[in-house]
Amino acid sequence: MNRKKKCSRVLLVEDDAINMELLQAVLEGGGFDVLTAPDAPTGINLAQREQPDAILMDVQMPEMDGLQATRILQTDPTTAHIPIIAVTAHVKQDDAERCLEAGCALHLPKPLDTRALPKIVARAIKSAMERTG
Ligand code: MN
Repeated sequence: MNRKKKCSRVLLVEDDAINMELLQAVLEGGGFDVLTAPDAPTGINLAQREQPDAILMDVQMPEMDGLQATRILQTDPTTAHIPIIAVTAHVKQDDAERCLEAGCALHLPKPLDTRALPKIVARAIKSAMERTG
């Protein structure tokens, strides 16, 4: 049987296991199917292979950070359409700007407002769809 997705699928890229667990629970509670990647290279592979509807991308990760991963995904024609929501731990003045420059659709500071998160993700998916038609 062809399991056509009716839930939107979100890829979580997050190196912190506790955070990952929390975000996964929040998004699943909000009705999303969730894929998880503990580092940027895994996230890039999963995004290319699984074509999620959105990516929640931690920016602070060892080796390859979330902005590098975003640049790669945004220059890859197979993943360029996927909206990326960047999450940063320390809100510096230029965080939002750096995220948008890297190609993120949106920037959220930590700690995340978990009650608002499912709505924010749904909205990002909707506006990405409107943009690409
Ligand atoms: Mn991190």
